[in-house]
Amino acid sequence: MPSLIAFDLDDTLYKERDYVVSGRRAVAAALAPVAGVDAGILLEVMNNSDDAFETLHAALAGTPAAGVGIAEMVAIYRQHRPDIALTTGVAGTLTELRRRGNKLALITDGNHTRQHAKVRALGLDDFFGRHNVIVSDDIGSDKTTPAPFAAAERLATGMPHVYVGDNPAKDFHWPSVRGWQTIMLADAEGKNIHIQNIGGFPSVFKPQTVIDRFERLLQFQF
Ligand SMILES: [Mg+2]
Repeated sequence: MPSLIAFDLDDTLYKERDYVVSGRRAVAAALAPVAGVDAGILLEVMNNSDDAFETLHAALAGTPAAGVGIAEMVAIYRQHRPDIALTTGVAGTLTELRRRGNKLALITDGNHTRQHAKVRALGLDDFFGRHNVIVSDDIGSDKTTPAPFAAAERLATGMPHVYVGDNPAKDFHWPSVRGWQTIMLADAEGKNIHIQNIGGFPSVFKPQTVIDRFERLLQFQF
């Protein structure tokens, strides 16, 4: 039965790690000419740290870029044009789900500027339409509240609702409470930003179904 299928963004439609790499490259490229240091070295400094910008800031002491603050680095990171893409498997699956009559939407948490830049870079407007992209920053409530899911329900009344995500901390609880079908994409390669330990969560946080590949969505009855 045609449904509203809403997707999480990071580590569901693409690997967030790719965005982190892309953002750090942008910061390195912007600061290298100021510091007079090779961008590759700045990138390495960030990649070898758990707190990339803090470490970079410390490493730039004594260079002409010493005055560049962490807030400025964060701004470059958020505003950069991400070098990320959907895999052909994800793009093909979204195309087929839509061809079957489903309505597709996006529900994502995070900074407004950063998330919309990702949506543009991934070409998601082509699949979801601009009005079906819900960024929690835009509506003032994130996925730890029912608000973004209620907003998605208003996009498609009278249709079953499905949420596809990766993070048991916030992706499945509220949609389950509201009667949605919930599906978790397993972190098959262990590359996600948030560790996916569903065993550590109470049952109300768990998805109804787990899939190991995005393309498995085509096997569901929607
Ligand atoms: Mg996610």
